[in-house]
Amino acid sequence: LAIAVIACRAQIGLRAPPVEVEVSLAPGLPTFNVVGLPAMVVRESKERVRSALLHSGFSFPAGRITVNLSPADMPKRSGRFDLPIALGILVASGQLRIRTAEGASTEFYGELGLNGELKAVAGLLPAALQALQCGRDLLIPTASVPEVVPLLRSARNGGSIRAADHLLAVHAHLQGCQPLTPLEPVSEPPRSGVSAVPMFPDLSDVRGQLQAKRALLVAAAGSHSLLMVGPPGVGKSMLALRLAGLLPPLSDSEALEVASIAAVGGMQRTHFGVRPMRTPHHTISPAALIGGGINAMPGEISLAHHGVLFLDELLEYDRRALEALREPLESGVASIARASLRAQYPAQFQLVAAMNPCPCGQFGDPMGRCRCTPAELERYRARLSAPLLDRLDIQIEVPRLQADDFEQPPPGQSSPVLAQRVRDARDIQLGRQGVANSRLSEAQVEQLCAPDTYGAAILAQAVQRFGFSARSRQRVLRLARTIADLAGKSGVSATHVSEAITYRQPGRAHPDQR
Ligand SMILES: [Zn+2]
Repeated sequence: LAIAVIACRAQIGLRAPPVEVEVSLAPGLPTFNVVGLPAMVVRESKERVRSALLHSGFSFPAGRITVNLSPADMPKRSGRFDLPIALGILVASGQLRIRTAEGASTEFYGELGLNGELKAVAGLLPAALQALQCGRDLLIPTASVPEVVPLLRSARNGGSIRAADHLLAVHAHLQGCQPLTPLEPVSEPPRSGVSAVPMFPDLSDVRGQLQAKRALLVAAAGSHSLLMVGPPGVGKSMLALRLAGLLPPLSDSEALEVASIAAVGGMQRTHFGVRPMRTPHHTISPAALIGGGINAMPGEISLAHHGVLFLDELLEYDRRALEALREPLESGVASIARASLRAQYPAQFQLVAAMNPCPCGQFGDPMGRCRCTPAELERYRARLSAPLLDRLDIQIEVPRLQADDFEQPPPGQSSPVLAQRVRDARDIQLGRQGVANSRLSEAQVEQLCAPDTYGAAILAQAVQRFGFSARSRQRVLRLARTIADLAGKSGVSATHVSEAITYRQPGRAHPDQR
């Protein structure tokens, strides 16, 4: 009776818990069983493993083969266990003796083709990251190397990564007859600061709309959510798409998180240090927006983690999808529960939304072209729930340009200049409290955003006049803090509070209340 143990990892959300692939070979009638709650794809791996072994010139052992993926109560998917299973069978049947010292501390990943070729494994990055953090070495398919490139950027990780494209190459390496060399660290491409910006269109391309541009700057500086209301064709999406160009580059740890989520979502990020910008269409399902499906995949809100989620035509989205945004907007986490598994993905996204002021889009037009009835306006307005509206920090109108706006030269500062102001304001926030102002807790708001006497008086007046909820009042204070930080002021004064209040006046998003 022979037992071999090969190390690997499963994937549940962004977690990658260790899995031991145990293979036992016992005398008896030939059977081949995989136990340990394997999903269909793992059962199918039996066929791939058998064929790969035979096509690579090994013999498939006669006898009772039992493969146990341990711990047994953890759900497992993906073909990543093919290679560990094949290696376990080779060891248990005496066709492979692992001679190299690192063999014992190595984790193996790879889906096998029928001829023994190693194929890429989806979502390998979280597993690779956690393996290296535990000081383990990795052996992965060559086709998966692009996904782990972020891990080759720094020498801070203990273990090494080797890659192979065929079962025979892995065999030769472990026998010690043809060692694979570890992947070399890659040099850092330019990614800091201004170099990240030119990929994005520039804010100075947008004519006029000074208030919207200012709001975009404030939103970028404090990572505040933003709702733009205006008729079609005034440039709401042009403005939204320029937000990414104002945001500071990701830190290394943020970038790794973003890359891990993208890898699990089956996407590769080409721009490592750049914040993601997701723009899902309004036909998106709640599961695709929040995350879910049979494999508990990350949704758009997690793919937008540390970046921007732009929802154009906000009221066209499925009502359930919009309401499901409320919880993650507060917690920064997307929780997905499926019959067999629970997964959590980080979802600290900055929500930017745009909508028309009424069904025909012309409400508020000075020529009075809106033909919507009060009942139509009411129904339209009701599609945006008060709790969701309340969670949108900045709410502004983006009006149609007047004729004389076109005569002015394109005004305003360029995106790289504004991005520097955003970075300065963010540095103040991170130095003071470790998070962006939009993520301040209630207690922190009272402590860090308290305005001076005059500012407090203006706020108290506005609370009374506009009937701000406690939550709205807190949002005004967070915004005021960001406006003060943009101005480089340590205290929050009346000017900052006044500007913040203009971003939250009821009636801006609810035109029929004006
Ligand atoms: Zn209308």
